Amino acid sequence: MRCGAKTRDGDPCRNPPMRGARRCRMHGAATKAARRAAERRLLEAKMRSVVNWALAKREAELAELRAHGLTPYTWGLERGLGLDQEGLKPGGLNG
Ligand SMILES: [Zn+2]
Repeated sequence: MRCGAKTRDGDPCRNPPMRGARRCRMHGAATKAARRAAERRLLEAKMRSVVNWALAKREAELAELRAHGLTPYTWGLERGLGLDQEGLKPGGLNG
């Protein structure tokens, strides 16, 4: 993955982005606000991974609940958890 910001030459920047950020340190990722946002994204990714792991562990129970029309989605737990519309399949960690 590359920063991709436009350089003075008009080419995309080829520096690696800072951790959790989309841009490199030369292109805005080093500012305080950007670092806070990056840290937040990393924590949210961790949250997704924890929740997805927990959901995967109990997939059989979720299948039973879904058979009765109950899903995490129904219960409003979908936000930010990387779940698809059916609320059953844990998504990847990239969502
Ligand atoms: Zn850059």
